[in-house]
Amino acid sequence: MQWPTHDVFNQVPELQDYNIFTQDEALNDAVRHFGAEQYLGKLTSSGAILGRSDTLQLGELANKHLPELKAFSRTGQRIDQVDFHPSWHQLLSLLRTQGLHAAPWENPEPGAHVARAAGYFLQSQVESGSLCPTTMTFAAIPILQQESVLFAQIKDQVFSREHDPRDLPIAQKKSILIGMGMTEKQGGSDVRTNTTIARPIGAEGRGNAYLLTGHKWFFSAPMCDAHLVLAKTENGMSCFFVPRWKFDGSKNAIYIQRLKDKLGNKSNSSSEVEFIDALGIMIGIEGRGIQTIIEMANLTRLDCVIGSAALMRQALTQAIHHARHRQTFGKRLIDHPLMRNVLCDLALESEAASHLMLRLASALDHSEDPLQRAWKRIITPAAKFWICKRAIEFTGECMEVWGGNGYVETGPMARMYREAPVNSIWEGSGNVMCLDVLRAIERDPSGMQLIINELMSSSSSTVRNMAESLEADLKASPDHQEMNARRMTQNLVLAVQSHLMVTLAPPSIAEAFCQSRSERQCGKVFGTLSASETGNIQEHILQRAFPPLHTVTQAT
Ligand SMILES: Cc1cc2nc3c(=O)[nH]c(=O)nc-3n(C[C@H](O)[C@H](O)[C@H](O)COP(=O)(O)OP(=O)(O)OC[C@H]3O[C@@H](n4cnc5c(N)ncnc54)[C@H](O)[C@@H]3O)c2cc1C
Repeated sequence: MQWPTHDVFNQVPELQDYNIFTQDEALNDAVRHFGAEQYLGKLTSSGAILGRSDTLQLGELANKHLPELKAFSRTGQRIDQVDFHPSWHQLLSLLRTQGLHAAPWENPEPGAHVARAAGYFLQSQVESGSLCPTTMTFAAIPILQQESVLFAQIKDQVFSREHDPRDLPIAQKKSILIGMGMTEKQGGSDVRTNTTIARPIGAEGRGNAYLLTGHKWFFSAPMCDAHLVLAKTENGMSCFFVPRWKFDGSKNAIYIQRLKDKLGNKSNSSSEVEFIDALGIMIGIEGRGIQTIIEMANLTRLDCVIGSAALMRQALTQAIHHARHRQTFGKRLIDHPLMRNVLCDLALESEAASHLMLRLASALDHSEDPLQRAWKRIITPAAKFWICKRAIEFTGECMEVWGGNGYVETGPMARMYREAPVNSIWEGSGNVMCLDVLRAIERDPSGMQLIINELMSSSSSTVRNMAESLEADLKASPDHQEMNARRMTQNLVLAVQSHLMVTLAPPSIAEAFCQSRSERQCGKVFGTLSASETGNIQEHILQRAFPPLHTVTQAT
């Protein structure tokens, strides 16, 4: 169209109608390497659907039309419902159809966790809020599977691939979602301070019914059909399965006080609730509720890593796409040496984050092996600390590549930037994760030694040096270990990421990562790669990160 005052030019076409999976060479390499080659076809199909313009638009819509609390019906009855835009339900349907809430538990075949992580990584690039109930359901399943009587009643609905948003008792539903309620006003990291109490209705202990009275200060996705909730009995903090509807078909006494007004994660409703004699079935051992729910938290932490790695990946692709089209000072942004440095540095960071998240998922596929168990227990909190923090800076840097267009809500960058901090805070904030790494190492020193041995076997002398200094860190005086926990955790993650890059990336790209991440003058901000070490491989890095769209098969 002809505009009366000016021609519109040098604006960037939207990145859409591309295959999110086939465009990601590093992810493809890692899926193969970690034993999920048989899922490549499915991931390719998902990648095509998720990259379509109409799918990408669901993410925008769900974050524009926010969930709304309807505490009362038109006629004054308490209903405690949350209304969502249809896009929210379409996103949940997509997640569910792919089995991202349950598949590896339903069919624990080789590569199932890796495939699920890759699928989750792809969908996360469309929208983040809808991941929350999906993740919580995924993480609750192994705990619920240990409660044979209860699980027999809900198994079909848990595994179902059909999203059912209706607010009905579980027995009347095709599928259910499960959330978690730990955090109270006086403390989230230290849940030992919880004041919610549980009184037995009759028989006491595991599998029996209790009445819960108290509150939760953060209670995300209150429309889940049940939550795993911490409450105190006379014998200590215990874990309860608290359904929205009681098994007799009446509504459970969970009252939503209000929805949180959040910085990001807007599509997802996070609520404050009160329980007034709400029914809860005790799960796990009485008095060991924290240990029970921590099992769940370890899995939600993995999803925080995947979700943040995915945010980084989507921000990176948007940044590279933009830089390939936008011109300044007579040439494309991507052809300016300094911008190339920024983009290459971001690409290295994103690839290392992707490898780490799939490596962690593969540890779940081999949970009998002591090294894999050590990865799961020690590296999960370390990665949660590091990747979720890197995503905050990373999305900000990618936003800047877009200039002013990045800062406004008409594009995708602002939403990603606002979304980034949440993964770092919930499910254990940064410091709590680093302290958890120390605790995990203390409990399993031989597991940590296996990880060090793995690093020491690397073909790269940089990785071996990193492993040596890590060993020295670990031997440091116990008095200083807590104070140094962030430093040690950072070094641990950089060492395992370097090792993964050497294993999975082309040698020159792996070398660029290892060198830059072990040099003191690098890494304070993105874009400080040394010209002598990376100058001649920049095109290779950028091509691998996101090949120009005309050279690959488009979405089908
Ligand atoms: C959007 C959103 C949704 C949420 N949804 C849920 C939900 O569904 N269910 C749920 O149970 N919770 C939920 N949470 C709560 C979240 O898990 C907690 O906010 C988080 O665990 C931190 O607890 P807190 O807010 O009480 O902070 P605090 O425990 O007060 O911690 C504050 C800070 O102190 C640091 N800190 C704590 N202890 C130490 C220490 N010993 N040494 C050094 N530093 C320390 C922490 O790392 C943190 O940075 C949600 C939070 C958000 C933001």
